[in-house]
Amino acid sequence: MTHSSTPTTTALLRALVLSLVLVAAACGSDASETEAVDDDAVSSTADAVAADADDATEADDDHGHDHDDTSVDVGLFFEGALTQEPTIEDCTLSDGTETTCYQITVAGDPVTYEAGPFCPTSTSDTAEAGGIWFDGTGVYDLDGEFFLNIAELYDDANWLMYDEDGNINVTETAEEFDLAARPDVDPELQNHCVEGRLEWLENGEPVASTVLIPVEPHLTGSATTSGGNLGVTLDGVVIAQSAPVDAILSAYTIAAFDDCGGHYNPVDGYHLHGAVGCSETGDAADGETPMFAYAMDGFPVHSPLDDADAADLDECNGHTTDELGYHYHANGAEENLVLECFMGAIVATDDAAGGRPAGPPPGAEGE
Ligand SMILES: [Zn+2]
Ligand SMILES: [Zn+2]
Repeated sequence: MTHSSTPTTTALLRALVLSLVLVAAACGSDASETEAVDDDAVSSTADAVAADADDATEADDDHGHDHDDTSVDVGLFFEGALTQEPTIEDCTLSDGTETTCYQITVAGDPVTYEAGPFCPTSTSDTAEAGGIWFDGTGVYDLDGEFFLNIAELYDDANWLMYDEDGNINVTETAEEFDLAARPDVDPELQNHCVEGRLEWLENGEPVASTVLIPVEPHLTGSATTSGGNLGVTLDGVVIAQSAPVDAILSAYTIAAFDDCGGHYNPVDGYHLHGAVGCSETGDAADGETPMFAYAMDGFPVHSPLDDADAADLDECNGHTTDELGYHYHANGAEENLVLECFMGAIVATDDAAGGRPAGPPPGAEGE
């Protein structure tokens, strides 16, 4: 839960301050009269060069609001969420901009909570025993009652997910998981609640993902979509596209989510489909919700607003506030889509080092 400034961030801040000083010096002006430079921290070039990292950080906090409001802060990721220190790489954005990006590798399993539970095992189980399900219209607790009523919910008598003793059919082995968590669900595994486990992934390891996110996100003035992942949580997991609910339901399966809105599939490991308040930073500005992720365009993603209508969000659920700058609010989990689009430029897909190809067809996610 440590949110410390990383060496990389500190180095960047120091470089920024030094470059401001150098600009001031090159202009031949007295640095103490230059607006862009903190006149306490930087009374002369020599002092600034000698200034330690803390002073540099304070100078930036006081006077560098543009920088603070728009730069990705890799120090916000929870400890353990990244498998290595982010690096800065050249990258080309979807609008042709050549810039620099953080190359960030998220660990692939949440570090602030334990994934699961997903499926309850008995029709008498309470909500504690299971996670949630959302299908584009509602969010449902996966308790025993849900499975007793599912034929009614989906108005289809072929749903029968439990035996005469009330035992719910749940994927119980890695093989069953593989056969059920795919577009062409094995007929034997219809009417199963599908859940995966970390130990059923290849080598029993989380699936790390590497993404490229612009260091300085910028708004393009129009919305763009991506077939790839939508972002990464501060907890170290990817935010995936919508779960392919139609394919899942047509196979009489439920690809259960845990109470944080994530689940496993055999290929991608743990990933998030719904924002329900997990992985958040501890604090929120007045009238705001806490941040929990970065979108692929580098803008922060905050939890859903109670009253999104009052916030005058744009078509991608973003808005600009004095305190936070531009940021998104996730859709409610019931929508099965954390973010519909990006207002900022994202990295052209070919640049996504180590990333999986964007644009899988619906249902190809593997559920
Ligand atoms: Zn999924
Ligand atoms: Zn907001």
